[in-house]
Amino acid sequence: RAKTQGRRSYNFYTRELDEQLQDRMQLEQAMRQGLENQEFFLCYQPRVELSTGRIISLEALVRWNHPQWGLVSPGRFIPLAEETGFILALGPEVLRLACLQIRQWDEQGMPAVPVAINLSAREFHQPDILERTLTILEQTGVEPARIEFEITESAAMSSVERTIETLALMNARGFHFSIDDFGTAYSSLNYLKRLPVQAVKIDQSFVLDLEDNPELHPEDSAIIRAIIGLGHTLGLEVIAEGVETPAQRDFLIRHDCQVGQGFLFSPAVPGEQIRSMMLKQVAQRPK
Ligand code: C2E
Ligand code: MG
Ligand code: MG
Ligand code: MG
Repeated sequence: RAKTQGRRSYNFYTRELDEQLQDRMQLEQAMRQGLENQEFFLCYQPRVELSTGRIISLEALVRWNHPQWGLVSPGRFIPLAEETGFILALGPEVLRLACLQIRQWDEQGMPAVPVAINLSAREFHQPDILERTLTILEQTGVEPARIEFEITESAAMSSVERTIETLALMNARGFHFSIDDFGTAYSSLNYLKRLPVQAVKIDQSFVLDLEDNPELHPEDSAIIRAIIGLGHTLGLEVIAEGVETPAQRDFLIRHDCQVGQGFLFSPAVPGEQIRSMMLKQVAQRPK
């Protein structure tokens, strides 16, 4: 009896594992095909001045429109893309698409705003990341000052000395960096102070937990206040992610965080929609 049971669970286990593996392999194969078929595109989420809602920069977020599955969320495919190395093929396409969009906005006369691009750890730690990036910018005719990069706190924390070196090299060419998902990786302050970056982004988990009443979440609000204070002490811009409610916005403003992004203002939207939002903003600006 024990034998049967053992066997049954063995069968069950492998079947589940098989399905999982197949699913991952299917997903990876589909991503490679999707890149060839130009199924990936970008949406842009405004980063705004919290007190006015004025757009001051944008974050490019990749989207995948699969012919059968429809829109697949980056939460589903980016981790696998990082694991398998496919991100090294997708990343350059993301940068290229962002540059082409910048050129198109320029031609349409849209006021220039910096565009932030997410760089995964694997991309950032390529020895020739600077050259690869400059090549794409040259090919598309975009200046480095138009582009910012976001690297996660955990990516920045691996191989500290190399990270600092790469950041400094890219800074020298005019690229700005922010530390994404800040507060989730327990960096030492001593290390953070050595990183040549221009901004920190408070991870949305802290902001979302504030819900409608910051007083109900004393730990999260203390962490947020600490990050804001730390960022400013180091001379960095502080950007809050995941701002969904007026209460969260007001809490952030009250604690001296001036910039944020989130569904309260706008989700990530196609480039065309950014253009009309920007035009409206220009029209409304007091003369
Ligand atoms: P992230 O860089 O931290 O981006 C923030 C995520 O939060 C985005 O999800 C955004 O749509 C979502 N978000 C924005 N405002 C709100 C809000 O108010 N509430 C909530 N609940 N969520 C909000 P998205 O687009 O699904 O991207 C997920 C993650 O996938 C990104 O996190 C980033 O790590 C990765 N990712 C997206 N695009 C790229 C890319 O082009 N390259 C790389 N390497 N990673 C990317
Ligand atoms: Mg990001
Ligand atoms: Mg983030
Ligand atoms: Mg995040």
